[in-house]
Amino acid sequence: MTRPPADLHGAPDCEAVRAQAFAACDDELTADEVGAIDAHLLNCESCRDHVFADATFHRIIRAAVSLDDAPQSLRDRILLSLTTLTTENAPA
Ligand SMILES: [Zn+2]
Repeated sequence: MTRPPADLHGAPDCEAVRAQAFAACDDELTADEVGAIDAHLLNCESCRDHVFADATFHRIIRAAVSLDDAPQSLRDRILLSLTTLTTENAPA
């Protein structure tokens, strides 16, 4: 049974690299795992494109869901409306 050359050295194959791309973006991998993926990406243009697209998508999602980007005026209005709702619902 023959295997791809990358497997002979314990390096991740294309499928494993792509599966771990998101985890790598979230710093969920060990330094060894990241190193193995980096080594694979140096020699595999197909995975490089795939991981770059994933990383770009990941950055966009992170920026979109970042609560720190809400302007202070919006935070004030939300807090005020919550306070008002709580006061209106309080028993007399
Ligand atoms: Zn690959």
